[in-house]
Amino acid sequence: MHVEAFTFNSFMTNCYLCHDNGEAVLVDASCATEEEQQEVLRVVEEHDLNVRHLLLTHAHVDHIFGCRFFEEHFDATFKAHEAAVPFIERADEQAKAFGVEVEPPTVPTTFLAEGDTVSFGSVTLDVLHTPGHSPDSISFIDADSQQALTGDVLFQNSIGRTQGLPETSRSQLLDAITEKLLPLGDEMTIYPGHGPETTIGRERQQNPFVKEALGGTSEDVGWRGSMSGRS
Ligand SMILES: [Zn+2]
Ligand SMILES: [Zn+2]
Repeated sequence: MHVEAFTFNSFMTNCYLCHDNGEAVLVDASCATEEEQQEVLRVVEEHDLNVRHLLLTHAHVDHIFGCRFFEEHFDATFKAHEAAVPFIERADEQAKAFGVEVEPPTVPTTFLAEGDTVSFGSVTLDVLHTPGHSPDSISFIDADSQQALTGDVLFQNSIGRTQGLPETSRSQLLDAITEKLLPLGDEMTIYPGHGPETTIGRERQQNPFVKEALGGTSEDVGWRGSMSGRS
């Protein structure tokens, strides 16, 4: 699976175009401007891709700015977890809370849950339900190429926010990381919703929140002071 990464909008939200054998999925169409939409379209054309599915890791407003445009542009199935529906229905409200505007997507036509798969080219993505940052958070895993798209669950040196957002649960988030993502193995590359790609191995060893969740001692975590405003 080839992964083309983009970073769009004022929230610096990653969007991924994953492709194989001429077929593709667009994960988190976060493009907020026409210029950003064109950036994706250029790569689609460059590789002559048939975009089969529009996928959402979750429906926070920063991840959905470009959904409506691509829904109309591609003949693709729009797929998300069922718990994304109320967030999509309240897209305007979400946008207002952050002082931005959004063209709300339609409600997805197909829902994804733990254990489902999404296929394109010769790739089969496994779906894991990884809630906590939001109830609809799902991760897409390509076991063959050892690559995973995990949305706002696990970042390089950080984890998804659980404060100041509706329907979050820090304990659910930590369970999702330790029980669903870490077992994917140290070699698994992670493409998060924000920031650079990383690996499970790197985060297991260096991410202070993951180390804490795994029961590391407080002596070897120097993040408490600097991160106190976020946790
Ligand atoms: Zn989010
Ligand atoms: Zn986000």
